Amino acid sequence: MSSEKLYGYNGKIIRINLSKKKTVIEEVPRPWLMKYLGGRGLAARYYYEEVGPEIQPFSPENKLFIMTGPLTGAKVWGSSKAHIVTKSPLTNIYTVSNAGGDFGANVKRAGYDGLIIEGRADKPSYISIIDGEVTVRDAESLWGLKVSEAQRAFLEEVGEEKATVACIGPAGEKLSRIASVQVDFPGVRRGGSFGRGGVGAVMGSKNLKGIVAYGSKEVEIADPDKLTEYLRMNISLLKETTGLHTKYGTAQYVDSLYELGAYPLMNFTRTRVEGDLMARLSSRVFREEFVVRDVACFRCPVACGKYAKPRKDDYVNLASKPEYETIWSFGPHCSVFDYDIIVAANHLADDYGLDGISAGYVIGFSMELYEKGIIGKDDLDGLELRFGNGEAVVELTEEIGERKNFGNILAEGVVRAAQAIGRGAEYYAIHVKGMELTAYEPRAFYGMGLAFATSSRGACHNVGGWTIRDELLKPKIDRYAVKGKGILVKTTQDVRGYIDSIGLCTIPRRSLNFTDAPKPDVLKYVIGMELKEDLVTIGERVYCLERLILNREGITRKDDMLPKRLMSEPIPDGPAKGHVLSPEIFNTMLDEYYDARGWTRDGIVSQSIKLALNIP
Ligand code: SF4
Repeated sequence: MSSEKLYGYNGKIIRINLSKKKTVIEEVPRPWLMKYLGGRGLAARYYYEEVGPEIQPFSPENKLFIMTGPLTGAKVWGSSKAHIVTKSPLTNIYTVSNAGGDFGANVKRAGYDGLIIEGRADKPSYISIIDGEVTVRDAESLWGLKVSEAQRAFLEEVGEEKATVACIGPAGEKLSRIASVQVDFPGVRRGGSFGRGGVGAVMGSKNLKGIVAYGSKEVEIADPDKLTEYLRMNISLLKETTGLHTKYGTAQYVDSLYELGAYPLMNFTRTRVEGDLMARLSSRVFREEFVVRDVACFRCPVACGKYAKPRKDDYVNLASKPEYETIWSFGPHCSVFDYDIIVAANHLADDYGLDGISAGYVIGFSMELYEKGIIGKDDLDGLELRFGNGEAVVELTEEIGERKNFGNILAEGVVRAAQAIGRGAEYYAIHVKGMELTAYEPRAFYGMGLAFATSSRGACHNVGGWTIRDELLKPKIDRYAVKGKGILVKTTQDVRGYIDSIGLCTIPRRSLNFTDAPKPDVLKYVIGMELKEDLVTIGERVYCLERLILNREGITRKDDMLPKRLMSEPIPDGPAKGHVLSPEIFNTMLDEYYDARGWTRDGIVSQSIKLALNIP
């Protein structure tokens, strides 16, 4: 790929310096497109070049790299993804966060592969990208608005109702370290979120309320006829592999993970509850009694988003689109088994611009502290924060969004909150590298523990590797096996590395043959050339580049660890009763993982791997 015409890419990005009020359009170095593909890989490559280890998350020198991949916005199902890479205020290291909806597609269709935002505006501002025209505009009248209000106002401002808005809410403005960037609000439009890692607070630190994008130009496809034919041939495979997502969304996993004893409850203290409590949260109940509308990302027939409406009068106006993770974080993690509460709390998190996983997590964590007497009503302005108090979950979500009362402490994320509380609270903070764990019990399937520990952005089931399929749902390796988990996690991470870099959603990827032995026909039809390398190798390059960045930021083996509780307390009940990820088990898996990666046993990317993968 040299100067010949590009398909699937625009070949250019927007660079906006908010301090200097300067916007330039730059060519993307073409060798980077072949080596890193786009999206997460391309954003990491820019970050490696431009954000040194000394740069603080909230300093103007930190940057937001927002990138699409070659499939983003193309006529391919699942082609919705865009990625943000930045220095995280939650973890103080590199982070990456992705969102669907149609924001990425609109940036791409406006004529750009992405944008880099640097500096800090001297007053609240927003960026408008409408069909190639890029402007930075005044957002003083929008500052302070919640996400749903801001998005409606944005669309009126730009006068293009088909535009997509990616914006922050009050949480991002107030620099909450668990603030998100929300992509359209369900109820306004499609919905989606750059959730994890506090990317919304970085946007807030730049005085940037949001980005509005609209593009009417189709992404140019090298061989549209072959692509159309390929998709026609694979539509039945799409239905077969994503049917449950169409019906239930990611809520489908609530039932199966609970049955397998792999669903952590009440801040990882148990996996079983009495009576019919979990039945109230079944995916069938969710679908039949709460979901009012299916929500689809850009041109995606799967429509796995499930817009749900609470039934109780108090919450009836707080509809939202919870996913498996946020059903857990606002639900059983807090011992709440009530979709009215879960949907309402999720709505508030979205509307304040909070990561619903982290927000729900810190509430459940605080409930355990309350039950143990580490915090009391005096700390909580009178709030009765017992496990199971759904009203308190809703109230505290709002307080976190407002940075009010105890919510001000929780808005800092679990590590800083535990440090501020003291009194032994740190032991109960379940996180890796400062990022809160998600809805998987790693003691019940060991590969997940390794994935959380070695993920490029802290405890993440996506970037770290979603081993659920291979260990639990369609097991090809025993969930308690130690040998083989290092290789499994590495492969899962590398696959995710290339999926995130081509701009594809992971849910329909198998119907397009993007597996761990990919057949990249779709990519070839879009970009018009055969890749010289296997996609999994490119994914490995992306992962190793991220690790190189993390090494530069001080991350080594000492940081690739799980919380002490998960390595010392066995699961007390359920099918995985008695299992614990002891230091011996964990370190054996970690050694195998580093060996499989070709890194040193201290978790450092070796010179030989850098050479083999041709990374800087
Ligand atoms: S499968 Fe779901 S999340 Fe993925 S692009 Fe389609 S609608 Fe969006």
